[in-house]
Amino acid sequence: MILITGGAGYIGGHCALEFLNQGEKIVIFDNLENGHIETVNALKKIGDVEFVKGDLRNQEDINNLFDNFKIDGVIHFAGYIQVEESVKNPSKYYRNNIIGTLNLLDAMADHNVSKIVFSSTCAIYGEPKYVPIDEKHSKNPLNPYGKTKLIIEEILNDYETAFGIKSIKLRYFNVAGADNQIRIGEWHEPETHLIPNILKSVFEEGKTFKIYGTDYNTYDGTCIRDYVNVEDLARAHVLALKYLNENNKSDFFNIGTSKGSSVKEVFETAKEVTCRDINVEMAEPRAGDAEILIANSEKAKRLLDWEAVKTLKDSIETAYLWEKSRHS
Ligand code: UDP
Repeated sequence: MILITGGAGYIGGHCALEFLNQGEKIVIFDNLENGHIETVNALKKIGDVEFVKGDLRNQEDINNLFDNFKIDGVIHFAGYIQVEESVKNPSKYYRNNIIGTLNLLDAMADHNVSKIVFSSTCAIYGEPKYVPIDEKHSKNPLNPYGKTKLIIEEILNDYETAFGIKSIKLRYFNVAGADNQIRIGEWHEPETHLIPNILKSVFEEGKTFKIYGTDYNTYDGTCIRDYVNVEDLARAHVLALKYLNENNKSDFFNIGTSKGSSVKEVFETAKEVTCRDINVEMAEPRAGDAEILIANSEKAKRLLDWEAVKTLKDSIETAYLWEKSRHS
């Protein structure tokens, strides 16, 4: 059985779905602070899903789970993810993301569970010195969120030395889209991400989408990101666990499409997909935004046999259908 922490959230939920597609049994551990019981219920209709409501900050909650289920591997998503909030409230991020992971790893060590795939981020690299960014790029996270992810990568290495726990760290770039059957999708409150914010402006009366910054040193003045489809990303986790099972070797990989799109390009693609005019206004740049982030994912292709197959338009299409389903 595979344990998915944070499996009621956006990426965790899609990853859970992909493991179910592979015929795996899963147990989701989530405190439902940002995850949704509706996601768990949708997953329960698809396959063999157990759900345990609990908090990683509580050692007993996670120990009990390992006592009650025979866990073969762990996929770890649970954590706070908002960059801006992490700058304003670092304690929340360090206490939850780091202590929660330590509790999880201690429970794994106590129960002889030795394989974990960790949800890391391109935010660990900081302002890029070159693009596309490969795994050798220097690491200089600009905010507490990125710092917690980098610290956890180091902690994972220490737990390998001490207890033989093998880990794969997947450093995601920007994640987009929804399940192609629209059973689950992206659902954050508050929503800060680009694509759902554009789509909300289609469905929510009087809402205007804001482009944060039009004076960047890029071809159209807006920030460039690498948008990887959430189903492609979920597949990377299945392949990462397979790699651990076959090779028993820790490693880390960038997960992106190797293709950048500007905010304006994403907006234009969304207009095309929705066939709607969307209210837009130019706004000040958002604090802490890097100008350009694009992945070099050659290593994942070479060692995991993973490659992004879906395009930005594919992601916007499913994201649109998902948003539509929530407003109908
Ligand atoms: N962005 C924007 N308007 C929004 C949300 C985001 O212009 O309502 C821009 C943001 O400044 C960044 C890009 O879109 O350049 C991607 O932002 P997102 O929050 O989706 O992901 P991030 O790259 O911050 O992880």
